[in-house]
Amino acid sequence: MSADIIDGKAFAAGLRGRVAALVGPFRDQAGRAPGLAVVLVGEDPASQVYVRSKHKATVEAGMESFEHRLPADATQDQLLALVRQLNEDDRVDGILVQLPLPAPLDEQQVIATIDPDKDVDGFHVVNAGRLAVGQPGYVPCTPLGCLMLLKDRIGDLSGLNAVVIGRSNIVGKPMAQLLLAESCTVTVAHSRTRDLPEVVKRADIVVAAVGRPEMVRGDWIKPGAVVIDVGINRVPGAEPGKTRLVGDVAYDEAAAVASAVTPVPGGVGPMTIAVLLRNTLVAAHRRTGVALAPDAI
Ligand code: NDP
Repeated sequence: MSADIIDGKAFAAGLRGRVAALVGPFRDQAGRAPGLAVVLVGEDPASQVYVRSKHKATVEAGMESFEHRLPADATQDQLLALVRQLNEDDRVDGILVQLPLPAPLDEQQVIATIDPDKDVDGFHVVNAGRLAVGQPGYVPCTPLGCLMLLKDRIGDLSGLNAVVIGRSNIVGKPMAQLLLAESCTVTVAHSRTRDLPEVVKRADIVVAAVGRPEMVRGDWIKPGAVVIDVGINRVPGAEPGKTRLVGDVAYDEAAAVASAVTPVPGGVGPMTIAVLLRNTLVAAHRRTGVALAPDAI
């Protein structure tokens, strides 16, 4: 058997297109475009790349992008003051503070200061709580993107066995909550899980969010399972001095057993920014009271 490739790049492009198509009607009714503010502290090269791509995608979708840069030696008070200013700014529907923050800044305090109704990253405890109890809120972009890919591939997920490997607040835990809300039987595995291959073998759905290159092997996977690989790991490439990206799943092995697999790159990765735009559009509608059809995006 050779698995289908789940084309996250194409799905993300479609989602971005659907979001962009809804920006015009929103602007007509609200008198302004949806606005996303991104805060970058310091000069971390990877963070700079992420912030640049978020800005580009926001503008391409027809939304307003507000970029705020603070020096690496910015104080906690300066950062909190900026977040509070963005909370008060009516043109801003979504606030994203690019993580990680340089030491010694306190990420948890910064996240806690963001207005939960502008927390389009879904990291505020209020939004984690809303997700846990099934109230509308904002769900972290990467796991919501994974769920969209799964529903697009499988349809109704109810009753399926799902194993999520990883229990971070950003990916693993919200992913497990989302799958539970879809009525999957969910197992959350982590570094202390005993006999992980056996646990994974029971899964109809495997979501790997570990950060260990190609850890999940083909013989761990139940034939016909759907495998979502969140991992992004840089490893040495074939040529000296070059690197390449691999996921947490041994792709070729998994593709020989699974019914569908996300590749790395081009699987989950492109979904994150697309869902960020989706969350921002939703926030703009909720904050202004402009109606958005529940199945619009
Ligand atoms: P974290 O480092 O926060 O969490 C990793 C999780 O994996 C932890 O729960 C840890 O367990 C678990 N783990 C570590 N080693 C093992 C092991 N040997 N067996 C089983 N579980 C293990 O990572 P994130 O959740 O932030 O990210 C996971 C991966 O996803 C990374 O590769 C990251 O780059 C990628 N990522 C990709 C995104 C995207 O596509 N846009 C966005 C976010 C992340 P324990 O809790 O016990 O320590």
